[in-house]
Amino acid sequence: MNEKEIIKRFFMRGSNDPSVVVGIGDDAAVVTNNKQCQLVTTTDTMVEGKHFSKQAPAYGVGYKLMASNLSDIAAMGAVPRWATLNLTLARVDEVWLQEFSNGLLECASKHNVTLIGGDTTSGNQLNVSVHLSGEVPNNMAMLRSHAQVNDKIFVTGVIGLAASMLSHLQKQNYSHANLTESQLSALYKPSSRVDLAIELREIAHAAIDISDGLLHELDIVCEASHVGASLQLNSIPVDRDINLQQAITGGEDYELLFTAGHEHIDQIAQLSEKHSCRISEIGEITNTHLIELYQGEQLVPTPKYTGYDHFPKS
Ligand code: ADP
Ligand code: MG
Repeated sequence: MNEKEIIKRFFMRGSNDPSVVVGIGDDAAVVTNNKQCQLVTTTDTMVEGKHFSKQAPAYGVGYKLMASNLSDIAAMGAVPRWATLNLTLARVDEVWLQEFSNGLLECASKHNVTLIGGDTTSGNQLNVSVHLSGEVPNNMAMLRSHAQVNDKIFVTGVIGLAASMLSHLQKQNYSHANLTESQLSALYKPSSRVDLAIELREIAHAAIDISDGLLHELDIVCEASHVGASLQLNSIPVDRDINLQQAITGGEDYELLFTAGHEHIDQIAQLSEKHSCRISEIGEITNTHLIELYQGEQLVPTPKYTGYDHFPKS
């Protein structure tokens, strides 16, 4: 199977997206964008041996690759629109490609995203990368730098599901075959909070998606906004299979952490109901420039390790 055949068979599945003037098949894609909107663009890469193992289900790898990009677009409050896919393949495995493309395109179509192009190359290591663009009404993007002192801090969903599955997989003699369907979903089919985020952008100040650990992401928001935070650990909704410390420093939740004024608490509760998405208030933005963790009334030490970093300081 040559390059052209791979593209045609697995990735060129037709589209009826009217914004796509030229999709897969020319030198570049042409899309019509909305004049009242700004373009929001992101990219995420997954490398075999680093982000997923050789045994990982190809469908899940494809789904998760799209979902991780969607999560970034959601964190900005944007509507996802157009994706491109870069593939570096060590060999042409048709079964793998079929499953991978099914997962990727199912996740894309769930969120009305059209795959409009990409690049396919050979290389020593399997490497998959999506570039996703979306639109947000002018100056409405939710930024990491917009948290304000006295904002309440909220988190969507339950924290630690993926970290809990990863810790299972790291055990000896434990493999994907031991995981149930719902456990596999926790790891490979994260919810992308896109629809909720589009409504949140009207009320939230700052937002970030939790890809590398809740504490790590909160630290980023605080630094970008020049503020501090106090977190109530007892209010964080943690998966029951994992301890609190692992949950708040574990990656790949793809939930949203956002801040908003307390006057919006009722509206946020309504959005939670409307989108069937748990939203928990977990703390407050402060002017201390520190992250303080409380368990009830008790101040507890902040862990040194707050989340994943590909190039940690030695
Ligand atoms: P060029 O050599 O001009 O870069 P390519 O042969 O790489 O063109 O690509 C042909 C068409 O197929 C282009 O529209 C490109 O965007 C698309 N394409 C290539 N690889 C992929 C892929 N993995 N998924 C989706 N579209 C792809
Ligand atoms: Mg090319």
